[in-house]
Amino acid sequence: MSLLSNTFAYEGVRPELEAPPGKILIITSCTKDKMIPPLGPNLHQLMPDQLWDEQDDDRVTRNFGELEKYRVPAGQLYRGRQHLQLMQGVELLRQTFGHTVVDVKIISAGFGLVSEEQPLPPYNATFADLPSSKILAISQRLCIPQKINHLMSNSYDCAFFLLGDSYLLSIGLPFSQKPNFPCLFLAGPSSHKRVPRRIPYYFVRVGQDDSIAFSYNLVGLKGQLFKLFAEQVVAPLYQIPSTMLKGDIGARERLGDFLKAPTPQQFLSIVSPFRQSGRISMAQSRALATQSPLFTNLKGHDLKRAKNYGRPMRYFIPDWEDLVDPGYDFMTDTGTKGKVKYRDEVYAHQIYKEPNYDGLLFSKSTVEDGEIKTKLVREMGIHAFARFEKPIMGDCGAFSYITHESPPYQTREILDYYQNLGFDYGVSIDHLIIPAFYPVKEYRYNLTRENAREFIELHRAGGCTFTPIGVAQGWSPETYKQAVAELLDWGYQYVALGGLARAKTEEIYAILEAVAPVLSQDTDLHLFGVARDREGSEMLHFRRLGVTSFDSASYLRRAWMSANTNYFTEDGGRYAAIRISPVYPSSPRVRSLLADGVATFEQLQKLEQEALKAVRAYDRGMLDIETTLDVLLEIDKLEEYNYEQHKALYRKVLEDKPWKNCSCEICSNLGVEVIIFRGNDRNRRRGFHNTHVFYKRFRELMKSLETSKG
Ligand SMILES: [Zn+2]
Repeated sequence: MSLLSNTFAYEGVRPELEAPPGKILIITSCTKDKMIPPLGPNLHQLMPDQLWDEQDDDRVTRNFGELEKYRVPAGQLYRGRQHLQLMQGVELLRQTFGHTVVDVKIISAGFGLVSEEQPLPPYNATFADLPSSKILAISQRLCIPQKINHLMSNSYDCAFFLLGDSYLLSIGLPFSQKPNFPCLFLAGPSSHKRVPRRIPYYFVRVGQDDSIAFSYNLVGLKGQLFKLFAEQVVAPLYQIPSTMLKGDIGARERLGDFLKAPTPQQFLSIVSPFRQSGRISMAQSRALATQSPLFTNLKGHDLKRAKNYGRPMRYFIPDWEDLVDPGYDFMTDTGTKGKVKYRDEVYAHQIYKEPNYDGLLFSKSTVEDGEIKTKLVREMGIHAFARFEKPIMGDCGAFSYITHESPPYQTREILDYYQNLGFDYGVSIDHLIIPAFYPVKEYRYNLTRENAREFIELHRAGGCTFTPIGVAQGWSPETYKQAVAELLDWGYQYVALGGLARAKTEEIYAILEAVAPVLSQDTDLHLFGVARDREGSEMLHFRRLGVTSFDSASYLRRAWMSANTNYFTEDGGRYAAIRISPVYPSSPRVRSLLADGVATFEQLQKLEQEALKAVRAYDRGMLDIETTLDVLLEIDKLEEYNYEQHKALYRKVLEDKPWKNCSCEICSNLGVEVIIFRGNDRNRRRGFHNTHVFYKRFRELMKSLETSKG
């Protein structure tokens, strides 16, 4: 490396002096937002039926008559955020290292895989929201998988895929031409299943929490991340110790270093300085919370008790459409024939003799999720819809509009909504203040205050019968305290603290300690999205500090969202569920194994059925643990993925047989099926069991409080 070229490259001039330090391939997708030139009279953009016909010509070279003169290079055609941010990053790399450092290819829903220079006529087509079978058929017609495979035989140092779920489906993973360079897929959590779990495929999770951490709209975040990456490579804005990106070396070395090992970890470490401090993911905050030795420094708190100490504490569970098929046949894996959604499905509280919660929480965005549900709830009212007699709380689901400037609702309409649907509790309209929105924290704080004030005034004037709950948002113990004091002044008897779902347990303690002194004997205090029992008695401490209700779905959802703790026991045990995924032709896992040629479809089906049989035989004492493990792990072995980890987790759960020790309705009826990770009817039922366990532990904790009170 000559000093001269290094300096030039760093300053972004005369990159043509030297070949680029590597070659990057980018695959991105078309966006709905396009730069369409004004078309002549009676001319219209091409529609899907003009492009998705059965002809086997290349749409790119087809003659579209009058529209021909309106062709625009694909790289310039799209105006979506992802594309614009991405191209800015690409441009920066090219200015620094020369044009050939990056190849950009675009998956167009109208024309298939095209290069950025390819002129395209104006068209309006997208894969988003199409059923999978249709996407697969169209992508075949447009030769997308064939063209991608051809591209994969080229030599690159690394490829980035910035594709939404539908577009990922269209490219036919895994590639039949195995690339000899790392492929990084920037995609949402729900797309993880589409990305093969082995070299050279790498999944880089880009989720809602990242959108908050990077303070960037989720729609364009993948492009934004690439742009940040390019900026850090060319001229780092942030220096952090321990990253490979050192400011005292040139841009060429920085890109060269990255391309030596272009892994998700390297990519994320380069962009991570742009994650603002305090904006951490839920998983991170959970990890942090569990690391802190809570009870070593709590001794001093024990004496403090809020004035409302005599009131009971209640657990609400948020509704996330947690329904199962009551007639599901676990032996044949078939559901009830002709089952109608909602009508023929049941909630956890219809399965257990007693509900495993004191109340339900419905957010407006989940109530109005789809026309059918909206209509049903309007007609029946919220209690009849949920088939639930205990209290139901309604809120506006502030997380659904967290990125909006202001909430999309008016107080008047929300009051009518709570009243007409028969809610017992209605929460004022708030706007979340989390670190990503600290630049506008005062605005959001005041907006939340004003809404709460208007809410209780109109509630009184209109003679509403539900109990109003005023929400406090804040960014420090002091601001929460001020907000709560004001709410109580205005006449609220029930207040709630929002924005703490991701806070560390100790941060919550600090806020509650500030708030507790302003509460009176008959004040109720709700904690949104927070439940803890890692250390055992967090809830007890929350209660001492004035909390009388809280909500959380995390015990339920960990049944299928957690990698290794899916089944909880009353004594605080946590177990992994045994994964036996259904084998069907379009399963990404199955396709990947078939593409590798390690087994035939029939063989995989046989392994799946044998795994089910083995677990059931083990449960009946007919099979020993080693044989059971061997059979169970056959597919994992083929996949060479997670084999050792699964073996250890499964051995533990099989040895302990926790499902045999639970007498809850679900476990006594399902037996070993409850521990099998497979489809909604097993997984969600396991979540119901977890909620049962959590609630039982929570009730016992509260009982200890009753007895210690006197
Ligand atoms: Zn159970």
